[in-house]
Amino acid sequence: MTYSPQDQRSPIIAVTATKGRDCWTLAIDCPYCPKEHRHGGGSGEFPEIGGYREPHCRDTYFRKHRIFDSRVLRYLPQYQLAPADADIDWKSERAYAETLLEEAEDLVAESDSKQAVARTETGRIVNAQIRELHGLTEEIEKTTSKTRRNDAYLSSWKASRK
Ligand SMILES: [Zn+2]
Repeated sequence: MTYSPQDQRSPIIAVTATKGRDCWTLAIDCPYCPKEHRHGGGSGEFPEIGGYREPHCRDTYFRKHRIFDSRVLRYLPQYQLAPADADIDWKSERAYAETLLEEAEDLVAESDSKQAVARTETGRIVNAQIRELHGLTEEIEKTTSKTRRNDAYLSSWKASRK
């Protein structure tokens, strides 16, 4: 199965707009990771809310444990921004984003376990080659010592003939 984030509808996220000295800042409580993200909202009289935004999620650690793996982003659609007072069922949008995240986490876990299998397979092949090499080395050593014994015998035999 090939999965494309474009196949999924973007979840709609509520924006809190604040006017700075020069432009608007749109703060959103990320539906994917545990952080708040900020997006630019233009410098007009009113904030430019709406449209799709690329989530700014990064890996998130809590007490040195990774609690958010940003690799899920490759399986997630962008989110869509809307004013917090818009007539939207925010609760169901959150739940929808949650299901998208769960699917994305499953896909990351799946690709991790495929890689683990591939690594095990490579390890098996390398071990078999090492065993084979060991066998060859032993064979060569046997032959070499036999040759050395023969050489020693021949030279002592030659010496005895002089
Ligand atoms: Zn995020």
